[in-house]
Amino acid sequence: MQNGKTAIVTGASGGIGAAIVRKLAADGYNVAILYGGNREKAEAVRQDICDNTDVRAEIYACDVADAAQCKAVVAEIIAAFGSIEVLVNNAGITRDNLILTMREEEFDAVINTNLKGCFHMIQSCCKHFLRKKYGKIINIASVSGLLGTAGQANYAASKAGLIAMTKTAARELAGKNICCNAVAPGFIETAMTQDLKNREQYLNSIPLKRAGQPEDVANTVAFLASDASDYITGTVIRVDGGLAI
Ligand code: NAP
Repeated sequence: MQNGKTAIVTGASGGIGAAIVRKLAADGYNVAILYGGNREKAEAVRQDICDNTDVRAEIYACDVADAAQCKAVVAEIIAAFGSIEVLVNNAGITRDNLILTMREEEFDAVINTNLKGCFHMIQSCCKHFLRKKYGKIINIASVSGLLGTAGQANYAASKAGLIAMTKTAARELAGKNICCNAVAPGFIETAMTQDLKNREQYLNSIPLKRAGQPEDVANTVAFLASDASDYITGTVIRVDGGLAI
């Protein structure tokens, strides 16, 4: 049943984003499904939601690295849905390489999508949340941003930056009843992790001895989007099977 709230999820054509948008729709949120380049996947997610729930679901192309696109798409969503209550910044990429050989384009692409992309979306939604005196911002970080990971100087820095941005937004916006939290997944089975080398060795280093599923992350996001988390802001919840203990 519809709950009267609208959620935006970026990167909702991908593994974790699709699970998040499906879970929020199942919980009654109208959903704006944002995708980067993969319209077909986004449309399949939308169709599935429309077949299985009574919420409104629309797809929007948006390169989060482009500030103007973020601003325009948020304005379009507010006009179409009437309001936004939840923003989930999930879009992200990897361009792994050792520091010694990492190219500047690889560094910049990851920072521009994973870190600046979240900034663009938060800035685009901020005024609307401030006027409403309500908002839930949930940023998908990574345990890489807590621990560092060899071969991921760009990615780990983007996610560590995102955690710092989460805490800053939480401090800046708390006075207007806007909460901002991060979720830090460990190893989740998606396209991003399908080519992982030393898979068995990696799984063995996880205390729960298995990879996580996109739904594990989606359940935590749903909690942070809900009223049950109203007194939680500026925190990072790990969904990692104990990997970063
Ligand atoms: P994925 O399946 O590769 O999905 C990535 C999503 O990001 C896709 O929907 C993609 O859209 C979108 N995207 C990429 N660049 C974009 C851009 N410039 N503008 C807008 N959208 C863009 O990856 P995933 O595993 O679901 O990852 C989702 C998030 O979880 C990421 O932030 C990732 O860093 C984080 N995470 C994942 C893991 C893991 O183990 N999988 C662990 C920790 C954190 P298109 O395909 O439409 O271009």
